[in-house]
Amino acid sequence: MADELRTCAFVIATTEDTTPLVVTYDDDRDKVECTNPDEAPVARPLQIYEGRPVIACALDAAASAGASSITVLTRPSLEAAITRAIDALDIAPACPITVATLNEADEIAATRAAANFELFGISKGKLDFAAQAIKAAKADLAYILSADQVRITADHLSALREDFDGHDVEVVLTWVRMTRTTPMLLTAGFLSRLAESDLCRAENNGCDRGVTTLAAFEHDSGWKQLLPNAGATSDPTKDFLADLKLTALEAVRIAKLDEDATEGALKKASDADRELVELAREVIAGMQPDDASELAALAAAEAFGTRNKADFPLLNAPEHKGKLVYLDTAATGQRVGTALEAMHDYDTHTNANIRRSIYGLIQRSGAAWNDARSVIYKYLNSPEPKSMMDTKSPQISITMNTTGATNLVAQAWGEYNIGEGDLILCWITEHHSNMIPWMTLAERKGATMRALPVDSRGCIDMEAYKAALADKPKLVCVAQVGNVLGIENPVAEVAALAHEAGARVVVDCAQSLAHGKVDVQALGADFVACSAHKMYGPQGVGALWVSQEAFAEMKTVNVGGGMVMHVTQYDFEPHPGASRYEAGSQPISQVVGWAAACEYLQMLGAENIIAAEAALTRHLMRGMSAIGDVTVFGDHACEAGQTGLVSFALRNLAPTPIVRFLDHLGVAVRGGSHCALPLGTALGVSGTTRISMGVYTTAEDIEAAVLAVAMCAKLYA
Ligand code: PMP
Repeated sequence: MADELRTCAFVIATTEDTTPLVVTYDDDRDKVECTNPDEAPVARPLQIYEGRPVIACALDAAASAGASSITVLTRPSLEAAITRAIDALDIAPACPITVATLNEADEIAATRAAANFELFGISKGKLDFAAQAIKAAKADLAYILSADQVRITADHLSALREDFDGHDVEVVLTWVRMTRTTPMLLTAGFLSRLAESDLCRAENNGCDRGVTTLAAFEHDSGWKQLLPNAGATSDPTKDFLADLKLTALEAVRIAKLDEDATEGALKKASDADRELVELAREVIAGMQPDDASELAALAAAEAFGTRNKADFPLLNAPEHKGKLVYLDTAATGQRVGTALEAMHDYDTHTNANIRRSIYGLIQRSGAAWNDARSVIYKYLNSPEPKSMMDTKSPQISITMNTTGATNLVAQAWGEYNIGEGDLILCWITEHHSNMIPWMTLAERKGATMRALPVDSRGCIDMEAYKAALADKPKLVCVAQVGNVLGIENPVAEVAALAHEAGARVVVDCAQSLAHGKVDVQALGADFVACSAHKMYGPQGVGALWVSQEAFAEMKTVNVGGGMVMHVTQYDFEPHPGASRYEAGSQPISQVVGWAAACEYLQMLGAENIIAAEAALTRHLMRGMSAIGDVTVFGDHACEAGQTGLVSFALRNLAPTPIVRFLDHLGVAVRGGSHCALPLGTALGVSGTTRISMGVYTTAEDIEAAVLAVAMCAKLYA
């Protein structure tokens, strides 16, 4: 049968550079404007997965899926890199590979001429080129595989299908996802032909990869997402949810009761409730540690979380207590009661605008501000300036958040210390807030920002980093804990190597601050960016900590009241210390609240927080690994991965239906790109679902989350 089909694979590769197009839609999304066609392509690193370029994985997938020929569509400038990737593969001679190069100017022209569909990672030019190549190959079936920076969306499928309507060929778009399977976006016609062909036999011509069918799904936002089961219009969770009365947490609690008590609790239960409790029993049994020390660690974490939960008013509000499992602390922590009280106390007894006058109330307000800042210095283990005139100490400037802090570095330091041809390094795992400020700085100054790869565990690839240091970067930007993979980076080592190479170092501590991990002296950083709301304090306040040496290289950016020693109508003299970066009225109440949150975490003790998170991460991983078809990103078996933050994919489901389903069961988690789109591209996923813990998280919360994911997996099976 297979011989009757001429099955060709086309791999679209754009590894190291990208077409310089900025594409904008009008409101109706039917007109597209492309600008910047003449600018030089922006260099991007080769995407590596498990030590191999993604292009190599795509070629391998095409060959093992039974393609009789493979054509790689690429640019002339990439031919050498692509050829190297092909040489590294052992493709059978029965499957010849041809490299066809696409002229960039033609691609831009084609895109401009007819860019009337979604452009995301792949341009109209490439698709036109693919269409021509498919026709030239006279294939019956054509796989289109994306590699590296290329993301093929459902719109591309529609566009290609239109092009082939009335022809014999069936086009199969494959989005190479470097997880367990290679999901394939298939046309309905192809599916029926596939059913008759050798390609769909269980052993799949010896190919050990699963073939998953996906259908186009029109999302509310207008973006097209990928969902399983071609043509499926019904929601497999609908009937279950309509019948369900329990939350996941309630089901977990019932599952732990003895038989009589369980029957009592389930007296008025629906079938769905009973099914959930039944599954809860299985899930909990599968999560039990089998050694005594792990059992003890888990019991300690449970006691720690249970005790701390009482300190968080929202978690004890009647509508949430005993029902809500809040596992989105990485987005924002719940506010600790002592921070809310401190702010209320300040606002009702002490509020006055500091640095503006000398009356008694304002002096008390100034003292509250100074005391609060001292607490923050201590929390970061930083020496504190003796006065606002002291520039011989590290400095903390209050910002709105972490993002405000990284932007402040870009503007107050970068503007004056980065020049044409300079290099800025960051990692592909960085949050947009620790990437876009450097990207735009580089653009303004004619410098380059390079995002370095991580290895398959999600850890910094130290060899690649050391090699990049040979190019003498001026600035190295790294998160202490990543917000998607939850891996702790060896910041002290990164910073020491950067300093040896003559670079300054920015550390994004947004995710590490709440975990008792931030000790600026141990980190050896020049700049540390953080937010209060990630550590159970209020929204709208954060800080930039700056070493004494780096501080001397900065110049004022935001100017106005509250930051000057003296002003004439011609010039001004800013404060010498940190307050020169605090123009305008300051969030005094919030800083006071933040200090209270710091004291709360100090009271809990960093070692206790770290131990509880590690035990709960292991508990979560025991549960997740027992659910078939869950892919967890990052290595959480290693110590660096036990930070209480785990992102996963469930088969080929988009994160939105997972998050929605978990929400129905009272489990709040985040789904999407997590403001780290370049990482999503590197992983080859449109998004992930993220579970992130806090000091109030209990083992029971984790069991409820695993139960909800397991139920979701069961219903979508
Ligand atoms: N960096 C990381 C690693 C983060 O997780 C976040 C928040 N998601 C930020 C930066 C930005 O923090 P903020 O929104 O408070 O500026």
